[in-house]
Amino acid sequence: MILEQEKILKTYFGYESFRPGQGEVIERVTNTTNTLAVMPTGGGKSICYQVPGLALDGTAIIISPLISLMKDQVDSLLALGIPATFINSSLSTEEQESRMNEIADGRYKFIYVAPERFESNGFIHVIRRIKISLVAFDEAHCISQWGHDFRPSYRSIVPTLKQIRNIPVYMALTATATEEVISDIQELLHIDNQNVINTGFARDNLAFHIVKGKDRTSYIRAFLEEHQDESGIIYTATRKQADTLYDQLSSRGIEVAKYHAGMSEHARKQAQAAFIHDEKPIMIATNAFGMGIDKSNVRYVIHYSMPMNIESYYQEAGRAGRDGEASDCILLFSPQDIQLQKFLIERSLMDDAAKQNEYTKLQAMVNYCHTQVCLSSYILGYFKDKSPHKNCGRCSNCVEKLEKTDITEEAQMILSCVKRMGERFGVSMTAKVLKGSNDKKLRDFRLQSLSTYGLLSAYTEKEITERIHFLVAEQLLSTEQGKFPTLKLNQHSVEVLKGQRTVEMYTAPIPTGEEDDYYKDLFEELRALRKEMADELNVPPYVLFSDATLKELSRYFPD
Ligand code: ADP
Ligand code: MG
Ligand code: ZN
Repeated sequence: MILEQEKILKTYFGYESFRPGQGEVIERVTNTTNTLAVMPTGGGKSICYQVPGLALDGTAIIISPLISLMKDQVDSLLALGIPATFINSSLSTEEQESRMNEIADGRYKFIYVAPERFESNGFIHVIRRIKISLVAFDEAHCISQWGHDFRPSYRSIVPTLKQIRNIPVYMALTATATEEVISDIQELLHIDNQNVINTGFARDNLAFHIVKGKDRTSYIRAFLEEHQDESGIIYTATRKQADTLYDQLSSRGIEVAKYHAGMSEHARKQAQAAFIHDEKPIMIATNAFGMGIDKSNVRYVIHYSMPMNIESYYQEAGRAGRDGEASDCILLFSPQDIQLQKFLIERSLMDDAAKQNEYTKLQAMVNYCHTQVCLSSYILGYFKDKSPHKNCGRCSNCVEKLEKTDITEEAQMILSCVKRMGERFGVSMTAKVLKGSNDKKLRDFRLQSLSTYGLLSAYTEKEITERIHFLVAEQLLSTEQGKFPTLKLNQHSVEVLKGQRTVEMYTAPIPTGEEDDYYKDLFEELRALRKEMADELNVPPYVLFSDATLKELSRYFPD
């Protein structure tokens, strides 16, 4: 059986072998077993219904929420000599009718429709009369209210379909299904556990990077310089950012296209076509761009600033490397990005509960920018991916060799400061107190009299902020979500405060100017001395002096 299907793969599509999961899905569907395929973006889900659709008699009905994709999919099938069509609201009534007549004549192997089509009696009438090979739900997570993109029309067609007796097999395909969504789809479409083929979310060809503290435009210019002739997408958080970056790059003669919702439909279509056909291989866009774009040779996706949540990030970054070739996903992070996203959430029309939910997701995104674990693992963990994952060895956290510093004492100072402040304040106020800032807000809340005021004055406010974010990312400190998330101690915080747990953080190597080299050597010497003393006394080094103190000492040591 599978041999015959491999032949179809070769003769129609020109591919040598199945990708992971495809064979299993195709075999089941061809045997008219209801099947759910969970495969990453670019994993090759279309083949999973196209091959059985060709192997079986009759017409395959593909239900897709993405009207913009239907035409592309149909065009590529037609180009392979496979009779296919789509029906949706973009067509005139006459065109819809003529296509319906052709469908009634059994002219097509594949028809693509939006879920709303099943609300039309005319359509149901035709479907009842023809021979159907299979019904496939593409982007099947839309069926579930647990999914991030729930479409009520998607769910409501299931009872209608069940009354159509001549559907031999159902299949569902998605890239983004959590456990709840998976069991929801299973229940609705009667899919047994052994017929859920889940290859996980992992995209082994993507290398994730986080870049902090760089001038974004210069970084991008240098990157483009090194990646000439490659195609990529640069996502910005706002239209204004897109306009500005577009002007900056095109004024330097770099061929870029631009896409956002503030442009006319005509201009957007033109930009999209220029990008798809590699006339302008670099696209600068807001998140309005990408739904239904299937360009396989995108070598990089750069986020000009941090997006609102991991779901959107993974979806947008995942547009890189659909052809399976090594590709880069770069996120340029700056702390202001958090304020910008909060502003966007506040400004939206969501109700309070929905906003709360967005803040929780935003926190996970912020944590991603501060975590020190493998970035791929972090993302897979966020999606509760079941496939075993180890360090990817490609992301910036896996690759960059940074100095590991014991920051237990600083962590203890931060945590006790949070406690002294009554667990009522957020990151920035806490950083200001520890810095010993003169900010008026501290006076207003009488925070200057706290015993922890100025405890970390050897650090810059930015360094303190970075450490607080790090503690949150490591779950050594919690946040209560809201517009102004407040810091709260948790069980792990208590362990750190009691000295039962040490905290290590990778910090950027100390810059190496000649003068700095000198201080660095001195600092290392002092650390070595501290270690000796600590070993002698049989205590952990940080009990004696914090790194901050050593850093300070190394600067003021008399020659
Ligand atoms: P998905 O819908 O899962 O995001 P697609 O079905 O659009 O992915 O496929 C992504 C790309 O992979 C397409 O360019 C497709 O032609 C290619 N592809 C799919 N299956 C195979 C295969 N077995 N061998 C080689 N390329 C494949
Ligand atoms: Mg697809
Ligand atoms: Zn990694």
